[in-house]
Amino acid sequence: MSADSPDKNQLSATLTDLPPLGTDVLSLVDDFRSYYTYHLGRDRHCTSNHYAYQALVLILRNRLMERWKNTRYAYEGVDSRHAYYLSLEFLMGRALGNATLNLGLEESTTLALQCLGFELEDLAEAEQDAGLGNGGLGRLAACFLDSCATLQLPVTGYGIRYEYGMFRQEIVDGHQVEEPDHWLRAGNPWEIERPEYTQRIHFGGRSEFYRDHAGALRGRWVGTSDVLAVPYDLPVPGFQNGTVNTLRLWKAAATDEFDLGEFNAGFYPESVAAKNVAELITLVLYPNDSSENGKELRLHQQYFLASASLQDVLARWIGTHGRDFSTFAEKNVFQLNDTHPSCCVPELIRLLMDEHALSWDEAWEIVRRTMAYTNHTLLPEALEKWPVRIFRQFLPRLLEIIYEINARFLEEVARRWPGDRERQRRMSLIEEGDEPKVRMAYLAIVGSFSVNGVAALHSRLLQEGLFRDFFELWPEKFNNKTNGVTPRRWLAWCNPGLRGLLNETIGEGWVADLEELRRLEAHAGDRGFRERWQKVKRVNKERLAALVERECGVSFDPAALFDVQVKRIHEYKRQLLNILHVIHLYDRIKRGETAGWTPRCVLLGGKAAPGYVMAKSIIKLASNVSRVVNAEPAAAGLLKMAFFPNYRVSAMEVICPGTDLSEQISTAGKEASGTGNMKFMMNGALTIGTLDGANIEIREEVGDENFFLFGLTAEEVADTRAHYDPAAIIAADPDLARVMQLLESGHFNQFEPGIFDSVVRALLSPGDPWLVLGDFASYAEAQRRAATAYRDPEEWTRMSILNTAASGKFSTDRTMRQYAGEIWQLAPVPVLEPGG
Ligand SMILES: *Cc1c(COP(=O)(O)O)cnc(C)c1O
Repeated sequence: MSADSPDKNQLSATLTDLPPLGTDVLSLVDDFRSYYTYHLGRDRHCTSNHYAYQALVLILRNRLMERWKNTRYAYEGVDSRHAYYLSLEFLMGRALGNATLNLGLEESTTLALQCLGFELEDLAEAEQDAGLGNGGLGRLAACFLDSCATLQLPVTGYGIRYEYGMFRQEIVDGHQVEEPDHWLRAGNPWEIERPEYTQRIHFGGRSEFYRDHAGALRGRWVGTSDVLAVPYDLPVPGFQNGTVNTLRLWKAAATDEFDLGEFNAGFYPESVAAKNVAELITLVLYPNDSSENGKELRLHQQYFLASASLQDVLARWIGTHGRDFSTFAEKNVFQLNDTHPSCCVPELIRLLMDEHALSWDEAWEIVRRTMAYTNHTLLPEALEKWPVRIFRQFLPRLLEIIYEINARFLEEVARRWPGDRERQRRMSLIEEGDEPKVRMAYLAIVGSFSVNGVAALHSRLLQEGLFRDFFELWPEKFNNKTNGVTPRRWLAWCNPGLRGLLNETIGEGWVADLEELRRLEAHAGDRGFRERWQKVKRVNKERLAALVERECGVSFDPAALFDVQVKRIHEYKRQLLNILHVIHLYDRIKRGETAGWTPRCVLLGGKAAPGYVMAKSIIKLASNVSRVVNAEPAAAGLLKMAFFPNYRVSAMEVICPGTDLSEQISTAGKEASGTGNMKFMMNGALTIGTLDGANIEIREEVGDENFFLFGLTAEEVADTRAHYDPAAIIAADPDLARVMQLLESGHFNQFEPGIFDSVVRALLSPGDPWLVLGDFASYAEAQRRAATAYRDPEEWTRMSILNTAASGKFSTDRTMRQYAGEIWQLAPVPVLEPGG
């Protein structure tokens, strides 16, 4: 039966055309009671907030559902071009607050819950974070989805539904202990399983050639072990605009075929148990940020995501356009979030050639026009390289296609630079050696029409350094897209006090147009306005202090300067520099150098990759220094320090509004962009930072006089390397000498001898890649400027206001407009609100 037969349309209309759901308080109350009682089967004996949370999600999900359907129909109606954001990570955090805000139902939901004896905030707290990411890269993907929906862009996210997300970090005796994050145990009421769109993914087997019926030589992949990919969809609501986009997450499932050999041999339970192996693929997120470790299972995850998502897009294409792929590249574009999904390049060729009978040239043309790649790091150790051996074992057909891409590519290089064998070797997709490897970044560059970095400096350094050969070959592919964060979650939702003040002062337009914040500049000189700004900050600091008390058992005085560094623990981010400064302050207190002191509370937080020994030592050092500082009677009222356990999205929603000073102190040239820096700035924190990543653009926007700059530039870092001499630096700086003396004497590890030896050795090494001691004096001086500035509350508040006012550029709405306009060529598609 054809899709447009009148009978079927009539039937589906009867089935699915419903009147819009009520959004008034009474409708919400009725709906809530119905779900709570009938669907969830709870009554007055139920004391847990969990079921009330579930009932609330279900009534909101219904209201998202009608908008979700309208959005799909709107995209189908105009046969719009569509972008797909492929990412191994989506660090979504909680969804409830964001959904109520974006649906415009905050007020009616709050009132409805009050009628029923609940508080929205308590139910929001009952939600588990969806921690399907490590840090910045995964959180960026989440912010992108929010902005795409808000801009009404036809964009779908594709990712993996890990059974276990990012581990929960506990701190035991100052050490990090990892606990599994079984976030789906109580179910996920937001997701919709869509088994009807299941895809089949191949692994193993071998590649062979055969003659098709027309006599043409074709490749195929045979003898494979297959795994099913089952999609689970999550709604992504735009800000009060009727659009609901989709995040589709794939779960691995065993196929229904039994291994008859084992079955017949009487091993029935064993053969069923073996099926669990297939489901291992999506069991757990790899907890490594900015480093690769070449695990087979990780490559399985990457290929699984790439193949499932591409097959899904192709199946939808065939459903509407048949097997004519001539306009496919005009209607589809794939954005690869780092190299993790770069198997897409050979996989799309394989699907188009082996499954849909296109020629190499036709398939390559489609790949070349639809793939775009975002690089996220300059650290060479984080560039993915997969052993050819692993490819040959699990993805033999893909390896063959990669070799073919490489052969054709190297011909192009040879044509451009005849006889330059060294350059061919450098640029080859295959790194030669005892263990030959596939260079995934080069594969992504060769297969893409666009290659972008994530901040201006980062994109420039890519062109001059890491990807220089490729930039010389294809300068037109390279571009910059400076990161951002969504102002819905990172200002409107997480900082209700400031939201209220902003709405009263400049109207409500800023939520969807963050450049509007510039209008705050006119109020920075107004004493009454500053007073209200201070009150908001004070309440936020009290909220943060309560959280620190609860989580760390350390009491922070909200009158003190709140100095915060939260992010993954990594040597390049230089948490050590921060700790050295705390030791320096402690040393000053001990020596009675406290005239004109600014009381300060230092908060450090972040997870270390479980195998990253140095990062774990840094956590232990931060914990030990905190213990000594907080126990020092002379430091009372002057200095406090705490290590915040299990840093995550929902914690950052309390931390960034309560912060005065944002620590962005990476070695220049190492942090690609940073996005934590943007969340802090939006919420009125001042930054102490190096000229690295997006810090540079933050300082440009807000002005040097409202930013505490220190440290070597990226160029100076590169020049310093050859003659870096930590011993000479210590000898010339008595403050630093005393800090190192305290550290080396075991002052912070009296009963744990030697545990910080490796930290001290790293700091003292002339080969220290992060030049920690090289920036110490400059950092300490910038900290003195910050402390002095904080002693003038009027001036500090003015600078705080100007930081928020200048943060408009760092909305992902701006970022996504640039992706849509300059890479994707994507136009907004209006969607009507239900009943509208
Ligand atoms: C924003 C964010 C990050 C990224 O922080 P950076 O300072 O840019 O490294 C990491 N983790 C979480 C939970 C975040 O919210």
